[in-house]
Amino acid sequence: MLQTISAFDRIGEENAFAVLARATRLSSEGKDVVNLGIGQPDFLTPPHIVEAAIKALRDGHHGYTPANGLLACREAVARRTFTVTGAEISPESVMIMPGGKPTMFAAILLFGEPGAEILYPDPGFPIYRSMIEFTGATPVPVPMREENGFAFSAEETLSLLTDRTRLLILNSPANPTGGVTPKAEIDKLVAGLAEFPDVAIMSDEIYDVMTYDGATNVSLLSYPEIRDRLIVLNGWSKTWAMTGWRMGWSIWPDGLIGKVRKLAVNCWSCVNAPSQFAGIAAIDGPQTDVKRMMEAFDRRRRLVVERANALPGVTCTVPKGAFYAFPNIVDTGWKAKKLASALLDRSHVAMVGGPDFGILGEGYIRISYANSEVNIARAMDRVATFLEENQ
Ligand code: PLP
Repeated sequence: MLQTISAFDRIGEENAFAVLARATRLSSEGKDVVNLGIGQPDFLTPPHIVEAAIKALRDGHHGYTPANGLLACREAVARRTFTVTGAEISPESVMIMPGGKPTMFAAILLFGEPGAEILYPDPGFPIYRSMIEFTGATPVPVPMREENGFAFSAEETLSLLTDRTRLLILNSPANPTGGVTPKAEIDKLVAGLAEFPDVAIMSDEIYDVMTYDGATNVSLLSYPEIRDRLIVLNGWSKTWAMTGWRMGWSIWPDGLIGKVRKLAVNCWSCVNAPSQFAGIAAIDGPQTDVKRMMEAFDRRRRLVVERANALPGVTCTVPKGAFYAFPNIVDTGWKAKKLASALLDRSHVAMVGGPDFGILGEGYIRISYANSEVNIARAMDRVATFLEENQ
């Protein structure tokens, strides 16, 4: 038996991918599966973005780019950051990454070691905890409570900071709940962080413009007092329906950007050039497709919430961002993962059990509404029948 280091035994999973694999297998066996499991837009990448990548290939952009990304791409990110957040950043603080995930990997690797504590949202994106455990640091869950709109509570978050805390991970709008943390709460959180000057902050803002009902995301970049310890994760995957292009960006303080650039040189050299040209076109081109996709997501969100609330034993708070709903299923009498599994096997509806997003996910199920209204209605019909027959 080959011996690998124990850290690898601590790496977790993103179970949405396992659900996708099971759903795909059932489909290939001829089953009519409706997939509300995976967190990726069901839209194609807008054509002008695809054309920019094709043009880049035709123009001969086939080689390495700088490890931190093409200057033109980093300048586009700086422009977009100013438009969306009002914050002025230098292209020198930007890293173009192969998706959003490498930023969390790099940030957690920079601060995680045995004895260190890292705070992360629970329920939350499962890779945060997985990577914290990989480094040997202690994961400290910050509860995202339903009664609080699945937002961060400044008071509760601050109460969990200790002199061992090295990194605080924030995410709003949030996966898997759709929660958006209000500005007043972030104001309080940032004010409280003044007492913990050695704690770094990683703000995962990948769903930043995906909000509804007039909710706006407040970027942590709006707070100059924490800029020297703030890492912002963002990317193209969700907003421009580009999950498979593996294009993300992050913004780093002066003291860290050099280290992350070196990590990139060691691990992946650079993101492929055509994708970076596509990324520039996404930012600088017309945003009409983004608007169209968001209008569709909004209609689907309303449909999911209405249909979920009509299910026996289910209540669903209205998500304010991203493209997920996180209904409470406690009164159905089902354990969440068992329910998700039974729904896939027996009703051919893919959803992800709340415990796949953390300890506090029990009692919930994640519905990704990145699917058509017709399919959402078909899925919810099946879930209703299942619950009526199996309460
Ligand atoms: N952060 C959050 C909160 C996410 O939900 C996701 C993807 O689901 C990511 C980061 C990773 O994005 P990417 O696919 O660009 O790596």
